[in-house]
Amino acid sequence: MSKFDDLDQATIAAHAAGIIDVASGGIVPPIQTSTTYVRDREYRLLNPDNVYARDNSDVVRAAEAVINNLENAEDTLLFPSGMAAIAAVMRTIGNGGTLLFQSGIYWGTTKWIREFCVRREIRSIEMDCSNAHALDEAIARHKPEIVLVETPSNPWLKIVDIAAASKACTRVGSRLVVDSTAATPILSQPLNLGADVVMHSATKAINGHSDVLAGTLSVSDKSATFWQNIVTDRHDAGAIIGNFEAWLLIRGMRTLPLRLQRMCGNSLKIAKYLDAHEKVETVFYPGLATHKAHQVATKQMTGGFGHLMSFTVFGNKKNALDFCGALNLIHRATSLGGIESVVEHRQTIEGDETGIPETLLRLSIGIEHIDDLISDIAQALDTISCSS
Ligand code: PLP
Repeated sequence: MSKFDDLDQATIAAHAAGIIDVASGGIVPPIQTSTTYVRDREYRLLNPDNVYARDNSDVVRAAEAVINNLENAEDTLLFPSGMAAIAAVMRTIGNGGTLLFQSGIYWGTTKWIREFCVRREIRSIEMDCSNAHALDEAIARHKPEIVLVETPSNPWLKIVDIAAASKACTRVGSRLVVDSTAATPILSQPLNLGADVVMHSATKAINGHSDVLAGTLSVSDKSATFWQNIVTDRHDAGAIIGNFEAWLLIRGMRTLPLRLQRMCGNSLKIAKYLDAHEKVETVFYPGLATHKAHQVATKQMTGGFGHLMSFTVFGNKKNALDFCGALNLIHRATSLGGIESVVEHRQTIEGDETGIPETLLRLSIGIEHIDDLISDIAQALDTISCSS
């Protein structure tokens, strides 16, 4: 048991789970650039943990330890992107196996999984997993090897009841994998709710500064064969994060709880503001009491409902794009979880055929002052000519 096991997440993050640079005494770790490590004249490694940089790096292990502590996991692996992490866990499904995954999630995940399943002749069931009863039935009927859910989902902000999904998976021996990117380990800890694996695009709020691509997988039972296969695959196939990126992640995570607190506070105020606005049709944010799964979100998210929300404006695509164009402060950019707020017209990114409404806008709210954010949104809504 490490001395950090009993401490609050804010303390774990601020101290980066206790990392110090033993060689120099520095409270910040160095960035290693070495790809190989020396042996002595007896051919023993100077540091038995380090052989070759493809899977041996103090700074990568240190970053993994922080996430491991925050997730209350048995083991954590970093990957060079969120998609690399998702791909690593999906590759554990045998050829001809069965996967059940959530519909209407991050488009990059959907697209990759659909193509992967065709290539590997994997039977895939794509369904709305926010309906706990329907999910329970589908898991019992199809007995998939893996059930992948994303909660809150991007961009619909649907909520999956993780504890209920976990019970359904346990009954038939399925593995529950949760993409918890929009919740972060601060707001939700899926492993504590019974998930087998929790995944993050650490590119988003975990890093939080829009300057690192990274992905994580954390597991509740590190002795499980599928996990050992992932460990071996990462080492042998080489989907490794760079040392500089791992170092930046450690730096970014020190303020993760603090950033989330501010982002959640700002987001709830903005969601309420939009919800009351005459030019806004619907707001999708689990923190609103009117959200379909507000009760489930309250049960499984602690300390806030996240920084991600979507809303539709009355009118048409032009009105939505005019709103984006009128923003002075909030950046028009893809991605989410950064300290700076961004807006995205998802249909432009995903294409018409994916069912994303032309009037839907996704906001990722940052740490700016709430008054500045609301006045930017207010003046942009003023410029568009639609109403109910
Ligand atoms: N999961 C979610 C919910 C995402 O929003 C994204 C990216 O936007 C990913 C996974 C993929 O992560 P990355 O861009 O780090 O590969």
